[in-house]
Amino acid sequence: MNGKVYLVGAGPGDPELLTLKALRILRQADVVLHDDLVSPQILSHASKKARIYDVGKRCGQKRTRQEAIHFLMIELARQGLDVVRLKGGDPLVFGRAGEEIRALREAEIEFEVVPGVTSVLAAAAAAEISLTLRVTASSLLIMTGHVANTNEGPLPDLRSLVASGTTIALYMPGRDACISASKLAAAGLASQTPVALVSRASTPAQQVILTTLKDLPQVAMQAKPSILIIGEVVRLSQHDRLRLEALYGQPLPLPAPTHRKERDEWGTLQAVNHG
Ligand code: SAH
Repeated sequence: MNGKVYLVGAGPGDPELLTLKALRILRQADVVLHDDLVSPQILSHASKKARIYDVGKRCGQKRTRQEAIHFLMIELARQGLDVVRLKGGDPLVFGRAGEEIRALREAEIEFEVVPGVTSVLAAAAAAEISLTLRVTASSLLIMTGHVANTNEGPLPDLRSLVASGTTIALYMPGRDACISASKLAAAGLASQTPVALVSRASTPAQQVILTTLKDLPQVAMQAKPSILIIGEVVRLSQHDRLRLEALYGQPLPLPAPTHRKERDEWGTLQAVNHG
């Protein structure tokens, strides 16, 4: 009898953000095929007997071909093994799960998708940004910045979206902040558009920088992976914080300076100003 394949979201990094269902399935799996965004702490929950394959790929480095991943999933399931295909965040958000689902259907292998916490949610939590706000922000657009770091072509026109209160979550913003910023400007975003750059959200190395599109190029791209949250919600969250800081006589660095939060050695978030 064939085994079953589980397409499982591992969440953004913090093992506590795994769902109970993901944890149970991971513990029972015979085989785990994981991406490189999945941390060793999460993999440590797999059974000692499980076969673990790193099928991850990173920009510029050797990668496992998508077809090879399909082949592995299908062949191992045909051997009667239960296979977990473990992906960072949620498997259905920029996770190539669509292609894997098609391959499994064609091979008539039973499968199940187990959702995970996608990275924009962890990034928003890290930066304390509400992605929607009554009146000012009524929609959230999840998009890839992949085109922002290549010459593949322009991003779609974003001006009216942001003006009408859409918050943009830009996954894969690219290595070069200058290129990302100029592509976003070419897509119609005003130079004062507020931007939050969040890297390694939900991990001890998490960093948050609040800035504007104009000043984004001056911000060195942080450790990977990172994501941009764009829209008025970023300014409003910062505004609240700065209003409180003002009560204590702190300088008000809006809009140009960046404002960074880092975890101290106890894991507590600390505000650090980079003026
Ligand atoms: N399926 C994943 C996305 C995979 S695409 C999800 O649902 O989150 C990879 C991109 O996700 C990265 O380039 C980055 O933009 C984002 N990402 C993944 N983990 C992240 C993290 N911990 N912090 C910030 N961004 C992250």
